[in-house]
Amino acid sequence: MTEEKLSFQAEVSKLLHIVTHSLYSNKEIFLRELISNASDACDKLRYESQTNSDLSEGDSDFRITLKVDKDRKTLTIADNGIGMNHDDLINNLGTIAKSGTEAFIKAAEESDKGDVNLIGQFGVGFYSSFMVAEKVVVTTRKAGEDKAWAWESTGEGDYTITDATRDGHGTTIVLYMRDDQSEFLEDMRLRTIVTTYSDHIDLPIILLGEEEETLNSASAIWTRPAKDITEEQYKEFYHHVAHAFDDPWLTMHNRVEGVIEYTNLLFIPGSRPMDLFTPERKNHLKLYVNRVFITDDCDEVIPQYLRFVRGVVDSGDLPLNVSREMLQHNPVLAKIKTGLTKKILSELKKKAEKDAEGYAKFWENFGAVMKEGIYEDFAHQKENLALARFKSTHGDDWVSLTDYVARMKEGQDQIFYISGDDIEALKKSPQLEGFKAKGVEVLFMTDPIDEFWIPGVGQFEEKNFQSITKGGADLSKIKKDGDDAEDDNKEDAADKDGVDRLCAAFKAVLGDAVQEVRSTDRLTDSAVCIVASESAMDRNLQRMLKQHGQTVPEEAPILELNPTHSLVKKLVDLSADGTSQTIDDAAHLLLDQARIIEGENIPDMSAFSKRMTSVMEKGLM
Ligand code: ADP
Ligand code: MG
Repeated sequence: MTEEKLSFQAEVSKLLHIVTHSLYSNKEIFLRELISNASDACDKLRYESQTNSDLSEGDSDFRITLKVDKDRKTLTIADNGIGMNHDDLINNLGTIAKSGTEAFIKAAEESDKGDVNLIGQFGVGFYSSFMVAEKVVVTTRKAGEDKAWAWESTGEGDYTITDATRDGHGTTIVLYMRDDQSEFLEDMRLRTIVTTYSDHIDLPIILLGEEEETLNSASAIWTRPAKDITEEQYKEFYHHVAHAFDDPWLTMHNRVEGVIEYTNLLFIPGSRPMDLFTPERKNHLKLYVNRVFITDDCDEVIPQYLRFVRGVVDSGDLPLNVSREMLQHNPVLAKIKTGLTKKILSELKKKAEKDAEGYAKFWENFGAVMKEGIYEDFAHQKENLALARFKSTHGDDWVSLTDYVARMKEGQDQIFYISGDDIEALKKSPQLEGFKAKGVEVLFMTDPIDEFWIPGVGQFEEKNFQSITKGGADLSKIKKDGDDAEDDNKEDAADKDGVDRLCAAFKAVLGDAVQEVRSTDRLTDSAVCIVASESAMDRNLQRMLKQHGQTVPEEAPILELNPTHSLVKKLVDLSADGTSQTIDDAAHLLLDQARIIEGENIPDMSAFSKRMTSVMEKGLM
């Protein structure tokens, strides 16, 4: 017998430390995790034996057994599923390849309370056995292979793998319970845990004793009529399929009949899963064919922007021996995908109409992902636009585009927005001043995806989207509520010729650093701001792309002056005497100032500070 001693991958060691030391509440979920793994292992073998019937070696009566030995203080969980070979053991029980591991470790280390919700969210799964056991021994043989192996660990730094023997394929896990965890050696306790967390598992979970006792109802929950399923049962199933611990925000269970028939039991999580923004943008829906699990790794079941949806789709219209590759261009699956998309979008619409507050919670979690749909799913663009919500200058509530258009001001024919990553910074943007003064609502676009769908969509209800940091802002046509005057802040503005003269002087000083210098009515309190030209890329998008290392066509900004600002008026007067050092300094300083407000860099810091010093000095004289 050869014994091999191996170390856990560093992340696993960290995880184990967290699991054994800080996540102390709700320890009973270890059993849910082990049963869930056993059930997955049986699903896998059932699937594999569709194409290779020898694999199950005549033993395809899948079941999970629990056995207690009070003298040895052990709890044994066994399955006749696919099992693991030597390499599987190392890969599955010695490393962790899940996305979000680091985020999980960090979050768990920070939460001193030991938030068990994190385990559920992240699904440390197998490792949760070390919450209750001081030693774990896994004896397993992979279906179709000769050799069996024993994996053993106390959950501290390393584990051993030895060759072993095992009757039949599958996995047996023996937990040597900690002294203070003997409650999990009581039949009553086990019965309760299984019915609470694992009732929906569609294979029998059998407690071995004097006689065999099946603890669960052992039928696939989605095949049962919705009226017979309690909310609690839905919730537990959601925890199982989604590896989550929160409550589902929305449950959609229905059977679709017609040309193509399928059943879906879908959930929208109540909180945001950790892997939502990984580059793979994977979905996690489980696809079944007549209750046989096929895959949970198939991009063709649901569009990527709905990847937060969890649950099961089961159709008898796909061939049972369908390979995962065959799913790529399967017309039946394509129809199911469309059906699911329509269903989800229409349920969301209902929720949005019925319960705006509840819908806002959903949007906070998944809005940024849903917006990808506006961009990517042309067939449902209208629906997705109607579902979108935004923050705006109008208050703290989420606003729909329909709301926005309904309260547009007289004379307003565009949907105004400003984009950037920090809403608090955006709220202070000088470009907003004129809009605020007129009571014109401006939407805040704070998700990177906004930069892509807005130009793609262009309009909503025939109103163009207009960035207020781009192009000219003609606010003069828009009427302020209860105000008949066409324009109200012109009277205290500097005279037009004077302003034009100052603009020309500034342009002469600044040269190619600016594309143009012009007067604007977009400002009320600030003296200046910069904007991009109508045809240019929005400056926020330019910044974003640069941060991602992309080359962006350099385009100088337009500098805009506020003709009602006292500083600008003084400069207008000064410029009547021709150019001077003061005009020169002012032009540079005001441009730099405008750049700073935008969060942009000043190209020449030392020139900036020299000018600043000289201007301050003059001010003190
Ligand atoms: P997850 O179930 O989310 O993948 P776990 O930590 O629960 O994470 O399990 C890790 C992996 O170990 C599983 O993906 C599976 O490959 C393997 N595994 C665990 N338990 C079993 C089992 N009873 N039979 C076969 N493989 C198993
Ligand atoms: Mg698991």
